[in-house]
Amino acid sequence: KKVADRYLKREVLGEGTYGVVYKAIDTKTGQIVAIKKIRLGKQKEGVNFTALREIKLLKELKAPNIIELTDAFPLKGNLHLVFEFMETDLEAVIRDRNIFLSPADIKSYIQMTLKGLSFCHRKWVLHRDMKPNNLLIGPNGQLKLADFGLARIFGSPDRKFTHQVFARWYRAPELLFGSKQYGSGVDVWAAACIFAELLLRRPFLQGTSDIDQLGKIFAAFGTPTSSQWPDMLYLPDYVEYQYVPAPPLRSLFPMASDDALDLLLKMFTYVPKARISVKQALEHRYFSSAPPPTDPAKLPRPA
Ligand code: ADP
Repeated sequence: KKVADRYLKREVLGEGTYGVVYKAIDTKTGQIVAIKKIRLGKQKEGVNFTALREIKLLKELKAPNIIELTDAFPLKGNLHLVFEFMETDLEAVIRDRNIFLSPADIKSYIQMTLKGLSFCHRKWVLHRDMKPNNLLIGPNGQLKLADFGLARIFGSPDRKFTHQVFARWYRAPELLFGSKQYGSGVDVWAAACIFAELLLRRPFLQGTSDIDQLGKIFAAFGTPTSSQWPDMLYLPDYVEYQYVPAPPLRSLFPMASDDALDLLLKMFTYVPKARISVKQALEHRYFSSAPPPTDPAKLPRPA
């Protein structure tokens, strides 16, 4: 049976934040696609129109490191989003113990991540939910950001779902303190966590609750002082933490190059406005110094 007279449904790929994702064949192009079914059930009619208008904007976002939204249509109370099909994701790469990631490979993956982010930030779209399993990898090794802008349209993913707890590990300190006027810096922080995870081959800051997440951040970078980050005191969920000094970053990343560490520290800046931008990060000497990033087609991938 065809969906919307065009897509032949295949197997379910998984359950995501907003609903089920399944594989399908686009009979118009012969391409394999991934269709994300988003429940709109409880929302008001008006929200659907807003969502559709926003989705139309996302369809215009086309870049090499962004997953393409090829179609979108409402059907039986669900919104269906059609994306190009991707074979694997960065989480699978990081987790695969048979894969060795060279410094050049890590540079290539993080550069593609930042290039995707840079494109969206130029269009004033934030991701807000960056994590390794949202970084999909295509047949030619290209890394593409998935789920762009969805968090803003459909609301923050429901943290009560068990599969969502991991997203906490990538949250910026201003979000954990309840900031509502955050900006592109939240994506930079998340990208830094992914950079760290590529270097360590395990999630860097694995908090078990929002409070614990802040504790893990402070243990790694030292508790921010009010003179260092004055606005922190006025954030809705601000609570005072016992002071801990920062250990040398080098001790946490013994294998990283000096250039990699310098960029990482600039991405992990507490004060959101002082945090390096994605554009500046791409201009950092880490990307121009040796070794050059690996050609995507030559990157190691899960078997
Ligand atoms: P989450 O919201 O937890 O990030 P998603 O909704 O993005 O999860 O995806 C759910 C499942 O569908 C995941 O297992 C993911 O690998 C798969 N998936 C999502 N998008 C695609 C795609 N474009 N191509 C192939 N698989 C996909």
